[in-house]
Amino acid sequence: MSVAVHPIAAPWRRFHLYSFLIDAPELALVDTGVTASAAGVPAELERLGRRIEDIRWILLTHGHIDHVGGAYALWEATGRRAEVVIGADDAAFVRSRQAHVDEALALRGDRVGRERLEQEKTAEVAAAVSGEFEPTRLVHGGDRIDLGGVGVDVHAVPGHTPGAVAYAVDGHVFAGDAVQAYGAASGFPGYEDPDAYRASLERLRALRPARLYLGHPYRRADGTPYPVALDAAGADAALSASLAAEAAIRAAVQAHRADESDSVYSPYAAVAASLDYTGDPTLEPSPFFTTMRGYAVRHPQEQS
Ligand SMILES: [Zn+2]
Repeated sequence: MSVAVHPIAAPWRRFHLYSFLIDAPELALVDTGVTASAAGVPAELERLGRRIEDIRWILLTHGHIDHVGGAYALWEATGRRAEVVIGADDAAFVRSRQAHVDEALALRGDRVGRERLEQEKTAEVAAAVSGEFEPTRLVHGGDRIDLGGVGVDVHAVPGHTPGAVAYAVDGHVFAGDAVQAYGAASGFPGYEDPDAYRASLERLRALRPARLYLGHPYRRADGTPYPVALDAAGADAALSASLAAEAAIRAAVQAHRADESDSVYSPYAAVAASLDYTGDPTLEPSPFFTTMRGYAVRHPQEQS
């Protein structure tokens, strides 16, 4: 059975957030934005002739606030009848606002200063995460979900986060932030584990998606954004660009030793320069520093 997919866009700060309606016999929403953007989802559904009360599935691609922040509010709006699904290793981000603070401290606390980062993150998640609750279903790669006769395959796509999953239904593949090409608003792709990110890209490419949906308007090498809904050729291009970007960053990391300096990119100023990266790495969250840390943790012998 074929299904239709409708992107639902919401601007938030410098980010463009997206949810997607899967118009299956049992309606599903992929990702939820943050509290503020989720408030607009019921009206968007109405515009599509659908009601929030009729959403039976909330499928979360990963645990970042711009994907799960609105989940509690939207689950409430379904009368708590929707199943809320997330990869098991990212479930803590639905259960607890503090998990988001702890993650930021672990990934970037040394760079920003722990006290300041803790204060900023605590204030941010209070506003952006609509509530804390237990997801109704934790999934792993290989699991299958039934939207009333339409099967959704769950694919593990770790790297951006440990518990990231992609949902595949009728040739449509929802990748969340597992496919970033040359990055979104910050101009740099962000992933915690470079090796897992690369393997996940290969896994997604092997699926040969007829349609690929991205979590944000990620950019090509020339800086122009991809549409978030890609056809087969666009999907192939975005996946190839993502692999090329990762390879270029990996090569730059291997070629330049970490070196403390006054640069905002310190200790990776040489890496940023060799990649012609001129984005602002001080904005939170910082994909640049998250990714640099990923290489340092996974391949410590190749640095300094
Ligand atoms: Zn993310």
